[in-house]
Amino acid sequence: MIEFLNTLGGKKEVFVPLVPGEVKVYTCGPTVYDFAHIGNFRAYIFEDLLKRFFQFMGYRVTHVMNITDVDDKTIAASNARGLSLKDYTEAYIQAFFDDLRILNIAPADRYPRATEHIPEMTQIIAGLLEKGYAYRQEGSVYFSIAKFPGYGKLSRIKPEDLRTSDRIEADEYEKESARDFALWKAPKEGEPVWETEIGPGRPGWHIECSAMSSKYLGQPFDIHCGGVDNIFPHHENEIAQSEAYSGKPLANVWLHCHHLIINGKKMSKSKGNYFTLKDLLAKRINPAVLRYLLLTTHYRRVLNFTFEALDQASAALQRIKDFLYEIETASFPPGRSAAVPELLAEARTKFVDGLSDDLNISLALTALFELIKKINVLIKDGKILADDAIETSAFVYSLDRVLGVLPSTKETELPEELRAKVRDRERARKEKNYGLADEIRRELADAGVLLEDAKDGVRWKLIKKNE
Ligand code: AMP
Ligand code: ZN
Repeated sequence: MIEFLNTLGGKKEVFVPLVPGEVKVYTCGPTVYDFAHIGNFRAYIFEDLLKRFFQFMGYRVTHVMNITDVDDKTIAASNARGLSLKDYTEAYIQAFFDDLRILNIAPADRYPRATEHIPEMTQIIAGLLEKGYAYRQEGSVYFSIAKFPGYGKLSRIKPEDLRTSDRIEADEYEKESARDFALWKAPKEGEPVWETEIGPGRPGWHIECSAMSSKYLGQPFDIHCGGVDNIFPHHENEIAQSEAYSGKPLANVWLHCHHLIINGKKMSKSKGNYFTLKDLLAKRINPAVLRYLLLTTHYRRVLNFTFEALDQASAALQRIKDFLYEIETASFPPGRSAAVPELLAEARTKFVDGLSDDLNISLALTALFELIKKINVLIKDGKILADDAIETSAFVYSLDRVLGVLPSTKETELPEELRAKVRDRERARKEKNYGLADEIRRELADAGVLLEDAKDGVRWKLIKKNE
């Protein structure tokens, strides 16, 4: 039994998929006007945990993440750079895919781009005009929130905050002034224009996700995710458009992760208080450690980003890796004990129960660390046998199908010239020639090889570049 706290309704509910054994998930993807920051990656890693957990539980997951490649921000930024929208956004799209790979975020089944789905959007808008939920004003089309009785149900807007006689053109605005919002924006100097059945113009941000989610997942689908800042206006407006158009719910479960904050404020581009993944890689932060940090605070809690928190994440991850190293390399007498299979079964149950309870990652990790503690005691007492060690290692790796934090590359996958460099660096370190060692480390990082110094020697991970 898997339970989630559904933002829609605000209650914990047992998850019932629309089709048994399958889950259809839509997650709002990046607005590609700049590099994603690690606050954005908190959202994508929470969604990755959700998806990997379902897969671990044997569900078939279909995951769609859109790419917002036309909206107020991408248009403004591409104009400022003097590039076409397509040329401008392409570089950020590719950088985003690189980052996903480095953070070991499992790829979505599809990454639909807004600019490639204009007919799907105008079809919905035409339907909303026909049904009287939308109206035209000076070449733009607006959604009339007064016509949709369910307006405000996701973000729980007070009726007195609904300004039903006002309109807003911008994609983002405050909940305290919920107004009629733009589905379609009239042509403007310096903006891209599509000639369509509803006239010339370009889409508002919200209609993009309504069109792309239902195209690839149907309506309703199971789970719609995002960060809490998406609840209003973005998701509220998605619900209004899609449900008014089709008369059916958009999604059954709405999950929102809380913010990554820094010095007490939401990490965001507009405040300039952010780190990109590249910024942290330049500071030699291991991406697995960042992933561990972003993953291990429950998604509905605010996560305060500090470098101390990264150090703690690194120490916790190192404990798991040291434990694996120990059981994989020490020699144990042949055979299997009675105790270990039981401990593994107990740990698995606790891990699954934890994540089944609204993705309670703390309970899940406690199960793993308790297991490590117990096995370590058995090792000390000489009670671990060879088969126990093999099964324990396999078990920890099986949990990593959900966590995705352990290195996976085999040494033999590294080309010989790079292996030689790793050896050279080891030698330089032994000779205390740290300048040379650091230089080789940088060369290796450029070639996509990340090194991690552990007490038993160096370990490394090959980060494949996006083809
Ligand atoms: P954007 O590219 O701004 O559309 O954001 C992409 C995703 O990142 C959305 O799901 C946002 O809700 C989420 N997001 C943005 N900033 C943060 C933050 N500081 N912490 C967590 N999630 C965030
Ligand atoms: Zn969206």
